[in-house]
Amino acid sequence: MSSFQAHRLDRQRGSVIGLAVGDALGAAVEFMTPGTFEPVTDFRAGGPHGLAAGEWTDDTSMALALADSLATAGWDLNDHAARYVSWWRRGKYSVTGACFDIGFTTRAALARFEELQDARHSADSSPRASGNGSIMRLAPVPAFYAAMLPNEIVLLIERCVESSLTTHASPQCLSACAYLGLVLAGLIQNLPRDEVLDPAWPPLARLQELRPLHPEVAAIAAGGFRHKQPPQIQGGGYVVHSLEAALWAFHNAADYREAVLRAVNLGDDADTTGAVCGQLAGAYFGECGIPAEWRQRLGGDALIEGILQRLFLP
Ligand code: MG
Ligand code: MG
Repeated sequence: MSSFQAHRLDRQRGSVIGLAVGDALGAAVEFMTPGTFEPVTDFRAGGPHGLAAGEWTDDTSMALALADSLATAGWDLNDHAARYVSWWRRGKYSVTGACFDIGFTTRAALARFEELQDARHSADSSPRASGNGSIMRLAPVPAFYAAMLPNEIVLLIERCVESSLTTHASPQCLSACAYLGLVLAGLIQNLPRDEVLDPAWPPLARLQELRPLHPEVAAIAAGGFRHKQPPQIQGGGYVVHSLEAALWAFHNAADYREAVLRAVNLGDDADTTGAVCGQLAGAYFGECGIPAEWRQRLGGDALIEGILQRLFLP
């Protein structure tokens, strides 16, 4: 294995493990108003789902279902949806063995998939169905296909967009997955963070040509997050706010820990802001940049490892 490959494997794995760690850090303060809780510095038991310290939520369960699908079936949207259903109905891919939280938009899309068996056309495409449920689980897709950047960028973008279609088909959600997926692929390909987040990054211009971004996502890609602070930055459930908050927390953080703690301490949809930021920070700093005490105490390690070892072959 070359050293570039070794490092790339560390960043691929980092993007998914980083997602899970960010989710687990935020789970204890999900739905809380910023400033009303003791700032998160470590895993903490509790939260609305009464989890043990280090356990994670739907964000990670769906990412694992997606990762398992890629490792098993290649690219097959009906297989993605079938695995999401096995999580929802039977608790597969859950750290506790049961599905204890599922977003409204996700549940509606999966119920429709059970009727139609057509994952490409099961989700609500109206702008009001613009939650962060597809960016929260995205990392396995750009991590698996990162080498498509730059020569097969058209296919890379298509895969990121299609991964959203199974549950979140609004223009905002599709654009957010396209942009986040491109950024994650760039980081995994070891490009400098400032280059990837530069509004003049050539792959972004190519994305805008191929598939013009929704104006609110385009404003983020133009660097809008650099000039804001909380409370303008909000860790809410709207996909645009969630993506903006994750990039704000990540873009100038010194390390993985600083990035994800900034994200989860925004409160509100803290597990998901943590999961999105954790994908970015994990892709950039690598699995080796995730603090060992978090990596070792993360719940469901055998489940995560079993899937990652099949997804990313060294
Ligand atoms: Mg969650
Ligand atoms: Mg959430």
